[in-house]
Amino acid sequence: MTTGIKVQLSACRGCARCIKVCPTEAMRVLDGKVMIIPELCVDCGECIRKCEDRAILINEDNWRLLASQDSTLIAADPAFYVQTRGYNCPEVFSSRLKEAGLEDITPWTSLAFDVTAYAIAKEIEKRGPEGLPLISTYCPSVIRLIQINYPELVGRFVSVDSPLETAVSLWREDTGRGDDVTLIAPCPAKVALVRSPEGRSKSSMKYAVSIQNVVRDLLAGGVEVDQPVEPCGGDLRYLLWSLRGGEAKHVAAFCDRPIRTISVAGLRNTMDLLRELELGRLEGVDYIECRACDLGCIGGVGNLESRFLTHLRLDHIDVEWSMTDQESEAVSRWYESGIWKLSAPLKARQRLPLDQDLGQAMVRLREMNQIYAELPHIDCGSCGRPSCKALAEDVVRGNGEATDCIFKLRERIYELAREVAELSSRSPHAFNRKR
Ligand code: SF4
Ligand code: SF4
Repeated sequence: MTTGIKVQLSACRGCARCIKVCPTEAMRVLDGKVMIIPELCVDCGECIRKCEDRAILINEDNWRLLASQDSTLIAADPAFYVQTRGYNCPEVFSSRLKEAGLEDITPWTSLAFDVTAYAIAKEIEKRGPEGLPLISTYCPSVIRLIQINYPELVGRFVSVDSPLETAVSLWREDTGRGDDVTLIAPCPAKVALVRSPEGRSKSSMKYAVSIQNVVRDLLAGGVEVDQPVEPCGGDLRYLLWSLRGGEAKHVAAFCDRPIRTISVAGLRNTMDLLRELELGRLEGVDYIECRACDLGCIGGVGNLESRFLTHLRLDHIDVEWSMTDQESEAVSRWYESGIWKLSAPLKARQRLPLDQDLGQAMVRLREMNQIYAELPHIDCGSCGRPSCKALAEDVVRGNGEATDCIFKLRERIYELAREVAELSSRSPHAFNRKR
């Protein structure tokens, strides 16, 4: 499993602040350096935000190297197009990219988001009330969070692939070209989408780089991507997917009946909502759109621009929610082709078992509970684990000692001191005689 984040060990001071923000307890600080458990990481990027020493970074490809090639083909996340002042016009952005020797597949991206919204709308219409609400598959971080922390909800995912993957597939079908495609991503989760995608064996893209590196490079290269331009017409529906609620509006616009949707952004809201769904409290809701980042993908840790400014920019975009006849015809055609479907259903991811053998795993679980019962339950993080429970788990896995806990260590030192005092009081009388 490849994650969308990497650790720069030389920059890590072992302060352990990052381990407290990880929603899946995927981090440890051992021997003074942070380490990540890839099977548990959901690529939310919270640890990147927290680390002031830049010891945790997006695990992206080398943009300078990619951009120096003769032709670089890019598929850009919608958040990319609203990073610079005045720009909400992908066509203008595309022509600026051309000046920098880059080719993008924006028209297919726009079509792919329409096809995806349409496919979701059809799936909602087909499901009976007992199969609703369905959950969006747009945010890869939310997919992984559900697979790990809410496994009983995986059956609620819509069966649609990421529209970014679909965009590249559409482009390949239309043009017959097989060039390598680089994804310009707003977050580690979408980098991981390229490296180890869910619901398909291989991504249709080869490389992934963060939005901030590309935009910085364009600006430094003198490409005029920062000049205000007139708002352009055309289909800008897909740009709204970068903001909380944009996807739900797009789906609702393509549904034959009115639907009830809930859109949340940020990990805390996402986890609260999923908990309510688990408890069966969301009756009457048709569709749930969750984004791991605050405000949506414009809040992703790989963006350059302030999320508040991009929000403002998106607020002023004129979006036409109904399709032209020509767009409708193209969307229906590609919908019928099934190009938007996940090739395999999304499955729950088992947290690492305590032992492969069930009987042995039960024994270890008892041991773990016993160790946990004797820990102080204050989750101080001094042991390098995010919680006392995580330390107990590490101990039964053979990855630590109960005395990694400073309170247990202090108890042990007192015990040893008592034993030493007792032993010294038992020393032979000959050694105790007065001089
Ligand atoms: S990216 Fe998120 S899940 Fe992964 S280690 Fe960092 S905080 Fe934890
Ligand atoms: S909300 Fe968007 S930017 Fe944030 S992790 Fe999910 S896909 Fe990435």
